[in-house]
Amino acid sequence: MKPIQLPDKLLLKNVRLVDAEQNIDQPGSLLIESGVITALNTDADDATVWDLDGAVVCPGFVDMHVHLREPGFEDAETIKSGQKAAAAGGFTAVACMPNTNPALDHAGIVRWIIEEAESFPITVYPIAAITKNRAGLELTEMVELHRAGALAFSDDGGCVENTELMRRALEYSKLTGAPIIDHAEDFKLTGAGSMHESAVSTRLGLPGIPRLSEDIMTVRDVMLAEYTGGKLHLAHVSTKGALEALEDALKRGLPVTGEVSPHHLLLTDKAVESFDTSTKMKPPLREEEDRLALIEGMKRGAFAAIATDHAPHPYETKEVPFDEAAFGIIGLETALGLIWDRFVRTKVISAADMVRLFSNGPRQVLGLPEVSLTAGTPVELTVFHPDEKWVVNAKEFYTKSRNTPFNGWELIGRPWGILKGSMWAGRVTPSFK
Ligand SMILES: [Zn+2]
Repeated sequence: MKPIQLPDKLLLKNVRLVDAEQNIDQPGSLLIESGVITALNTDADDATVWDLDGAVVCPGFVDMHVHLREPGFEDAETIKSGQKAAAAGGFTAVACMPNTNPALDHAGIVRWIIEEAESFPITVYPIAAITKNRAGLELTEMVELHRAGALAFSDDGGCVENTELMRRALEYSKLTGAPIIDHAEDFKLTGAGSMHESAVSTRLGLPGIPRLSEDIMTVRDVMLAEYTGGKLHLAHVSTKGALEALEDALKRGLPVTGEVSPHHLLLTDKAVESFDTSTKMKPPLREEEDRLALIEGMKRGAFAAIATDHAPHPYETKEVPFDEAAFGIIGLETALGLIWDRFVRTKVISAADMVRLFSNGPRQVLGLPEVSLTAGTPVELTVFHPDEKWVVNAKEFYTKSRNTPFNGWELIGRPWGILKGSMWAGRVTPSFK
């Protein structure tokens, strides 16, 4: 995928403009000049035209939870391959987790990631580790890491088990303003679990991970956020109990936000009956009652963001028996199509709701300026076609890994790519006239 330089004055014609903040969902056109939106619904005779055939143009999507694997695990993903997957999936930016080797726990590596990402028009926001080497023993230099460009902190993949350290991390988040992103998991309760603990795990003979593992840490960390006043963001909420804790915190006005992942909204432990290791991730696929609760929560506005937890793994770590396989699935190139087809087209949520959950919702959590479809705004836009039919085929993806449970799914609504500044990047090649 080669990014394409846009003409200086470009009229995007025949588009569906969707902007949640302005409450817009209407056909129209958009004029962009030298990387800035200059007018809506206009006819600029002297502009180059791109007829988008009814595609949606909306504020650029941010996936605030991805694993880019570099440095250390470049056979699974690199910053560049992750950026291409993001562009193909309709994301203008991603925030990458620190479980690399070495971990993102010092300023030099945070700066290196930002610089490494600069040659491609997808912004990569590093999330630095809470503890050194994510070992849970000693806090990182959070203020210095924040100054170097870390927008948030997490030991994702792991949880900060030491309650006193988590308390201090949240206190630091008041100094930096950067949220603590919580992978809520009690490892003693998880034990050797490889799927959700339920009747299905018993039947399959696989060790289970109880809801309690997530619920207890979620409640603990909400209590710590209340006590310290620090900003807490709950990653990949998967249980009805964790959702309840999140919504209770929101009701009480605590500095707590949460995200949900497409796979937890669409799949349950029943998918594991296939023994397909692409159904293995943390937190695990839960039960139907959890899935339905998450959907209701999304409808009520419980979540600030939909995030994929894009977790690429090479073939060898997934083509093994289920209980030995690595945890995690890829998500960047399926998220938009899944949510559009299964929740917007079915009117569970509106197009504007989806756009908010993918764009300005996560931006708010990360403290980034909002993007909108208004004149004078720098171009950072997602383009997708709401009616394009496709079948998920991981072999066609730009990510280096293939571990998705959605292979073969027929979807309507497909990402085309992104406009960022004066560049286009995406699956589709624009046709300028
Ligand atoms: Zn996690």
